[in-house]
Amino acid sequence: MLVNSIEKGIVIDHITAGLGAKILEYLDIDLNTNTVAFIMNACSKKHGKKDIVKIQNVTDVNLDVLGLIEPNATVNVIENGEIVKKITLQVPETVTNVIKCKNPRCVTSVETNAPHIFHLIDAENREYRCEYCDEIVSMKGAY
Ligand SMILES: [Zn+2]
Repeated sequence: MLVNSIEKGIVIDHITAGLGAKILEYLDIDLNTNTVAFIMNACSKKHGKKDIVKIQNVTDVNLDVLGLIEPNATVNVIENGEIVKKITLQVPETVTNVIKCKNPRCVTSVETNAPHIFHLIDAENREYRCEYCDEIVSMKGAY
């Protein structure tokens, strides 16, 4: 299957095998209204097995979410069947309302409308600290 087999949309390539579903979940893509192609365990010369996610007619996704879950993925923006932009992901410094604090005593667990804010403390291990209670969450291997 060709990577650019959609006319317009986004292709997220080089996702570690098994993480594609997690990415779809975190991106909050509505599978009832969006056309999504999800290829699991595709062969990759570079990385062994990989997942690929293609989202038709969507050209804007939350890059913080992708950088948080799979910073090694490649994001291709497709227009008229051609790749018009390749986005390099970065591990975000701060994420809001993406990960939830697991500390039951944290204010975000008690106050339903408190924003969930996490700050990066270790990019290598993708460790984040809760703004309110200092609970540490590691996104690396948290799947
Ligand atoms: Zn917390």
